[in-house]
Amino acid sequence: MSKAVSRAAWAMTGLAVVAAGLHVAGLSALSSDLIYMISAVQVFICAIVGVAINRPDRRVWSALVLLIVILIAAQIFDNRDSRDVLTQAISETLFLGVQLILVFGLVVTVQRRFGRDPVNVVFDSLIIGLGSWFLIWVVFLNPAREISSDVVSVTAIRGATLASSAIVIFLLATLLFTDTERTQAVWFASSAIACSLIGDFFYATNQSGRYQISDQFANAPYIASLFLVSATILHPSVATIASHSARRLRQPLLSRLILTTTSLVLPVVVLALSNPTNDVDRTVRAVSIFVLATAVTLRVVFAVRANSVLQAQLIASAQTDSLTSLPNRGLMIEHVAAALEGARFNDLTPTILFIDVDRFKNINDSLGHSAGDDVLVSVAQRLRVALPERCIVGRISGDEFVVLDAKTRSQSDAVLLADMVLESFHEPLALRQGDVFVSASIGVAVFDREISTSADDLLRNADTAMYRAKDAGRNCVAIFDKSMRERVNQRLAVETALYRALERRELRLVHQPIIDIDLGDVIGFEALMRWDMEDGTNISPAEFIPIAEETGTIVPIGAWALLEALTHLRSWINQGICRRDATMSVNVSPRQLHDPNFVAVVNEALMRSHMPADQLWLEVTEGVMITQPEQALDTLRKLSEIGVRVAIDDFGTGYSSLSFLQRFPIHRLKIDRTFINELASDVNARSLVRTIIAMANSLGLDVVAEGVETVEQLHALGDLRCSKAQGYLISHPVTPETMASTVAGLDKIGKWPRLRPLK
Ligand code: C2E
Ligand code: MG
Ligand code: MG
Repeated sequence: MSKAVSRAAWAMTGLAVVAAGLHVAGLSALSSDLIYMISAVQVFICAIVGVAINRPDRRVWSALVLLIVILIAAQIFDNRDSRDVLTQAISETLFLGVQLILVFGLVVTVQRRFGRDPVNVVFDSLIIGLGSWFLIWVVFLNPAREISSDVVSVTAIRGATLASSAIVIFLLATLLFTDTERTQAVWFASSAIACSLIGDFFYATNQSGRYQISDQFANAPYIASLFLVSATILHPSVATIASHSARRLRQPLLSRLILTTTSLVLPVVVLALSNPTNDVDRTVRAVSIFVLATAVTLRVVFAVRANSVLQAQLIASAQTDSLTSLPNRGLMIEHVAAALEGARFNDLTPTILFIDVDRFKNINDSLGHSAGDDVLVSVAQRLRVALPERCIVGRISGDEFVVLDAKTRSQSDAVLLADMVLESFHEPLALRQGDVFVSASIGVAVFDREISTSADDLLRNADTAMYRAKDAGRNCVAIFDKSMRERVNQRLAVETALYRALERRELRLVHQPIIDIDLGDVIGFEALMRWDMEDGTNISPAEFIPIAEETGTIVPIGAWALLEALTHLRSWINQGICRRDATMSVNVSPRQLHDPNFVAVVNEALMRSHMPADQLWLEVTEGVMITQPEQALDTLRKLSEIGVRVAIDDFGTGYSSLSFLQRFPIHRLKIDRTFINELASDVNARSLVRTIIAMANSLGLDVVAEGVETVEQLHALGDLRCSKAQGYLISHPVTPETMASTVAGLDKIGKWPRLRPLK
């Protein structure tokens, strides 16, 4: 149905053009009166249909119906040229009535459509209305007044009708400028009003006697207007014409500017080019221009004021965090800079606390992001309540808060402040989801006047100290000192250099033989990475491997190590340096196991080195079961299926639960060297190793003792029936080039248990 009436509305606009066109061309065989009658009848029918279907606002449709009735009456009485004064007066009054109802209808419609910017819209429209009034006065009203031979009352009514056109123009401009969406009905109604105004101006031109516009031409806009009224009422969007519905995203600012400027410039041009013809004219011109100028001035004042308010709001919102309403990073830096500036002239040492909510990610992941937001808001509140008034609390990102106390005098003041914060977290946060306990890690940085520190530096120092607090186990305070920065810088340098290490060929592998104590044979090797930096320094894997893991560089580096190690083994086997079934153990970090390509990487390394899968051991630590154990398990299972074997490195030092041994596809335990160290001297260590070996045997796992350094340890291992070992006693890790002589030397010793401990 709505589609049909919408189409009908568009048809009416077409008819408006056709009917007006026919009238102008004089092609219509119908008389002017008949066309009027047809227009009137159609508008009446459309009004009934439109109101019934579209149900617009009651006041809108009553105004519309009244308008149509009076319009038809005005047409019937339209005898403006009649000599009879009464007929003329009735006719003019009816036209004035049409205008007034139009004004009423527009007021009703417009007042509901105001959005965010009513004052400026009204003033812009007022400027247009006043400009139009000035032109109507100069062009029509003043000349008509001068030449009028009519009775005063008729001239007055006619003048009032024309004058009210300025109000109609004002309201029409308001209708188009408000920020409510301009629907089809709005455009149809505006076109209808514009046509009717054009008709009025044509008529007034004829009345002024200066130009004669033919009736055919003068009446055409009225006819078009009637059809456009029908289009308005038929279009479904008329239902929302007087309501504040969808807002326009783009304001018609350019068209507003053009129209208001024109309405301002045109009167000024007319004023400059024409002189007043009489005193009344002079007075009206002066008053009109004065009012227009006042409206423009007020408009400018309002615009400037609104602009400055908006600017202040924008600055405030750019400097505060929208969630907690606390100052954001930018504003905090300004506050810190101001505090440091102030500290130059007295003995204050401003303090910054850098507060990070511990394990906030867990809260977000487990309770959802809205609970996470609630936690942040509660933490913000808590900090504000817990700390003295003079402290400024800000949120600088995610779960990071910063407190500035510009008035501290010593480090102990700063520590006191940090303790207050820690203490404030002792009570749980009451969230909608229930009570939640959170803790925080706090970094403290105190301004040091010996070193000139900028606001940024101080914040960074506090941040560094906060990381130290996190490393120290969270829920504690760390105070910044220079060594922290040095450590951070050093770590950063290692991180950067590590990215290039592989392509610069700074990495290499050394290998440590693993022997079978009973057989006295080298049965395998462990590949261990070495990094010789450009400047000649050697960094221990214990230092760079964790960094490589954290930054992800372990993935490419680890892939390289795998291929390199297997290639070495292949060449030793080919050269007869070691047994054909010797194995290669390669250390693998959890991060590599989480890489979805890892299985493919292992496969490729085996293929390229022509090594069977069962000659590769992957050494993983118990850490794999801590983060994403499922993914690690999946990878290890796949590798196990192709024949690769898995060893648990440093067994006994991690957090493995025994069920882990059951769930994971494991084939070997490597007893950590801390146990082996004390094997010969400590009874407890001895019984622990015995238990591990017994457990491994019963689970069908192979056992290797790591870090064997003395003959006593080796004998103790022999007694405990641990047949495989590696360590400095047997051999230090050696370069691939020296492996031939190392293995030859080991073979010469023969069976290891024969070595008697030196007394
Ligand atoms: P790990 O896998 O437990 O390797 C054994 C470490 O103990 C090696 O240290 C080795 O040189 C050392 N070691 C061997 N025998 C003895 C001994 O008798 N006494 C003492 N005190 N130490 C001995 P390194 O080469 O410094 O490696 C340290 C750790 O770095 C390795 O521990 C391993 O976890 C990691 N790592 C080394 N290379 C790689 C690698 O290519 N990839 C990965 N992901 N980690 C590696
Ligand atoms: Mg290892
Ligand atoms: Mg180890």
